[in-house]
Formats: sequence, structure tokens, C-alpha cells
Amino acid sequence: MTVELICVGTELLLGNIVNTNAAYLSEKCAALGLSMYYQSVVGDNPGRLQKLLETAKERSEIIILCGGLGPTQDDLTKETAAQVMGKTLVMDERARKEIEKYLNQMHHSITENNWKQAMVPQDAIVLYNKNGTAPGIIMEGDGCTMILLPGPPGELIPMFEQQVYPYLHKLQPEVICSKMVKLSGIGESRVETEILDLIEGQDNPTIATYAKTAEVHLRITAKAKNQEAAMHLIRPMEEELYRRFGSHIYTDEEAVTLEEAIAALLKERSLTISTAESCTGGLLSGRLVNVPGISEYFKEGYITYSNEAKEKLLHVSHRTLQNFGAVSPETAKEMAEGCRKAAGSDIGVGITGVAGPDGGTKDKPVGLVYIGCCCMGNTYVKEFRFRGNRSRVRESSVAQALNLLRSAILEETGK
Ligand code: ATP
Ligand code: MG
Repeated sequence: MTVELICVGTELLLGNIVNTNAAYLSEKCAALGLSMYYQSVVGDNPGRLQKLLETAKERSEIIILCGGLGPTQDDLTKETAAQVMGKTLVMDERARKEIEKYLNQMHHSITENNWKQAMVPQDAIVLYNKNGTAPGIIMEGDGCTMILLPGPPGELIPMFEQQVYPYLHKLQPEVICSKMVKLSGIGESRVETEILDLIEGQDNPTIATYAKTAEVHLRITAKAKNQEAAMHLIRPMEEELYRRFGSHIYTDEEAVTLEEAIAALLKERSLTISTAESCTGGLLSGRLVNVPGISEYFKEGYITYSNEAKEKLLHVSHRTLQNFGAVSPETAKEMAEGCRKAAGSDIGVGITGVAGPDGGTKDKPVGLVYIGCCCMGNTYVKEFRFRGNRSRVRESSVAQALNLLRSAILEETGK
């Protein structure tokens, strides 16, 4: 079935509020297996809303509207939608009593315009609202059903979950389930090349790739009559991805981050780590410290911004800094080895680079970053040339440092 979403509110058009209802409703409709081909935002203007509804009615089987169900003059969603569906408004006694009760409980005095909210289109299914005054509405018509929901998320979400979801589920008995597989240490184009045959032949399940900063995520999605049947379709595809990408996959759980996966590796293999950061100034240690319980594995983090600090704290040699400069593979190597030694940890990671916007030269442009990782005495060094502004360069550096760290651990201690 096709569903279309219309969010009503001038505030949305002006950017005064973020359209979180659209994100919420889109996700729910996708999970219900409904095909959403159109979404729009329209201001509190009955003429424009009416035109939009007439168009939507022609192309979609279900239209979900949110916002504009309030008691004031500019709240015109219900009146306009009823008119487009050819329905007149009638007083709903239960809605009237509930509004009265709700306002009394909140110690609000009742004004004449409150009764406007108790008017509902004839033959409508009324969605009574426990969290506010405006009831929601389901209007069934020839070839098109309109569902009207209040704008405030605190009212819309419980109303959707308790009353609209079961209604839609009956119309569309299939569910959509998905599984996320996350990869590190491999580029997006290589991932896509390796699964081209799977993407081309895809039907149910489907695979979608998402490029993240220095990571690639693959989402497998299946449609079936229930969750169990959908997972049954997903599993063989997931196994195929494991066959193709092996240890590049760091998790198959949506909520797990790369730093959490690394922390789990450190724990599993009883390894400790320390960091030495120049251009990232603590961002790498910050990401590691995101993980609760990391204190058992993360020993020390050095921010060595100046050459003096690199010499004093990490024992990077004066000659290395003079001959090759602070931004060089040699310095990155000595930073990694130096922090490992100073902290007495199994692993040391060093980052040095030009974050910009100033400080770049022809030989060492902005975005040039060297990352070293010394794992059990073996040191890996990689050069990167990142694009983007200062924060982008620093963020990419940290993401690539985590990638290098993970692959060094797997290389040295087994995959
Ligand atoms: P009210 O009875 O409060 O007037 P309403 O159903 O008429 O509710 P609106 O007047 O359109 O809804 O919006 C009321 C409030 O709900 C907005 O100020 C905003 O805080 C929130 N809201 C409305 N639409 C959205 C949306 N699409 N996403 C997130 N929040 C929204
Ligand atoms: Mg309103």
C-alpha cells in the first residue's frame, strides 16, 4: 500500500522547529511495509493544504497528516481534510467530555474554541487523546484513507503506537525487518564492487550501502509476514557478507560503535592501550573513553602538540623532528612507540598531521596526516590525505586511527 505524509505548520517551513514527526512516522511506515513515495510540509494555509490534499488523494492510498489540530483559528487541518473528503463535521460527545475532563485536570479554564476540537468528520474513527485535547481522526473514503494526528510529539507518538499502528498493521499484514552489518578498514567502492552481484539480483532481502566516516555500513532489509520469517530471509545474506568480508565486519548490531568493538577486542585479548595525539588533541582518547569500562584497558593518553612535548613525554628524537618534521611517518612511528613505552601498554597509537586551515605547505598540505600503531612491538604507519575543514580532518584522522588500531590487533593477535 502507498502512504503519503503531510506535515502542517508554518513553524516547520520557517525552520523554527525540526520535523522530528516526519522522521518518526517515516520509520514506522517503512517498518510496516508501507511504501512512502511523497512527503511534504505545508504552512497553516487552508487553500494550499486543500490543493496538496487533492493531489495526494489521487496518488496515495493512505495520507497521514500531522499538526494543526489545535483549538486556534490557524489550526485548520481537520476542517480542510474533511472538506476534501466530502464530510461534514459533527460534535463527538465522548471527545467533548474528554476535553472537558482533561482541561479541568490541568486547571485550565475552558474557552469557546475548545469545543472546535470535539468536532469530528461524520463516520470517522476518533482517536481519543490521553495526552492532550485534540483527538486524532481516521477518515476512510473511496480509495483513500486520511489519518490526522496532533503535532506535539508527546501526543502524536503514543497515539500512533497505541491506535494507528494496529490499524495500519491490519491493512498491511507484512512487516519489514532489517539488520545492519558494519565494516571497517575497507573503502566504500571496494565494498560495492564486491557485492555488485548481490545488489543487482536483489529483491527480498535487499542490501543498501551507507558510507560513514572511514566506515561502511550495509543494511539488509527483508519483507515478510512476521519478524521471524523476515529474519529467516536475512540470515543467509548476512552469512554471505561474512564470507566475503570476513574480519572487516566489526559488528552485526546496529547500536555497536567501532570503539565499542575495539574495546571488546582489547578485553577478549587482555590488551592495554595508550595514545599520543598531536593534531587530534585528545579526540581519539575521547572516543575510546566513550566506552564504559575502558579504564581497564586504556592506560594513558598524551596530547603532545608541541615538538618539545613530543620529545619530553614520548622521547621522539630531536633528530627525527629536525630531519623529517613533526608531520612525518617517522614522527608518527616514534610517537606510537614512545607512548607505548612510557605507559607500559601493549599498544600505542600516534597521530600527527596538518589540520588546517593554516600551516599547510606544498610538501605538507592541509589534510596530510600520519598515523602510527605499535602493537606488541610491531609498528604500522599509514599516510592519509584528508579533505575538508579542520574538524573534518580531525574526525577522519580519529576514525582512521581506530581502523588501523583494529587491523593491527587482528594482524598481531589473530583474526
Ligand atoms: P496544538 O494543539 O498544540 O496547537 P496542533 O495539532 O495544532 O497542536 P501544531 O499547532 O501544528 O499542532 O504544532 C504544535 C506544536 O507541536 C509545535 O509548536 C511543535 O512543538 C510540535 N510539532 C508540530 N509539528 C511537528 C513536527 N512535524 N515535528 C515535531 N514537532 C512538531
Ligand atoms: Mg496548533
